[in-house]
Amino acid sequence: MTVSVQAVPILSDNYAWLLRESGSGAVAIVDPADADAVMPAIETAGRLDLILLTHHHLDHVAGADAVRTRWGAKIVGAAADAHRLPRLDIAVREGDTVPFGQASARVIDTPGHTRGHIAYFFADGAVLLCGDTMFSVGCGRLLEGTADEMFASLQKLAALPDETQVACGHEYTESNIRFALTVEPDNAALQGRALEVKQLRSAGEPTVPSLMVQERATNPFLRAGNAGRLGEIRKAKDGF
Ligand code: ZN
Ligand code: FE
Repeated sequence: MTVSVQAVPILSDNYAWLLRESGSGAVAIVDPADADAVMPAIETAGRLDLILLTHHHLDHVAGADAVRTRWGAKIVGAAADAHRLPRLDIAVREGDTVPFGQASARVIDTPGHTRGHIAYFFADGAVLLCGDTMFSVGCGRLLEGTADEMFASLQKLAALPDETQVACGHEYTESNIRFALTVEPDNAALQGRALEVKQLRSAGEPTVPSLMVQERATNPFLRAGNAGRLGEIRKAKDGF
């Protein structure tokens, strides 16, 4: 039994993620901000058990209620942000386990982009749903949190296994790479990733999920070394 993940492009540059658990056939959707856009993928899967939310921003949660109404699935989200999320059926905190068929996700607190942001990690299948905390070769803006919080959040994610599939909330990889090359122009792994991403995008393919081992080699925010440096890089990126 294992969990597989499929990108569902929605809005202008967001990804919802369809998860399937092979042992039971259970299906979940992550951050379904556009109910109409995610419906075909769910219809193909034929059922929906869970709706997982990473954080309260509308480009992640807007379609959740409509999807729940249509499929009768349960909405999972951060207890800390219950007041500003769609009504939660399952409110979770750091370290909680969310059962999904024969598998389960571990909840990881990842403040920085928003205070109540959480990520979900499925050890079976090594799938990480990290919303707007971490992008491929980037991280989210510090809208409600500090560089210290974001640094700690990213370090927790970076500690996951090499083969972890990083399923993030946006297709920002190309512009993230342009910026990252100004931070580390001589990083060979980053130069290689730039080529790979160029090919994927010109073929109209998503650049994510990426692999954690790849992010550790290319993501300037994972490579910052300390929170102060992360804050400097984040500020430079904001003005890039
Ligand atoms: Zn966001
Ligand atoms: Fe977002």
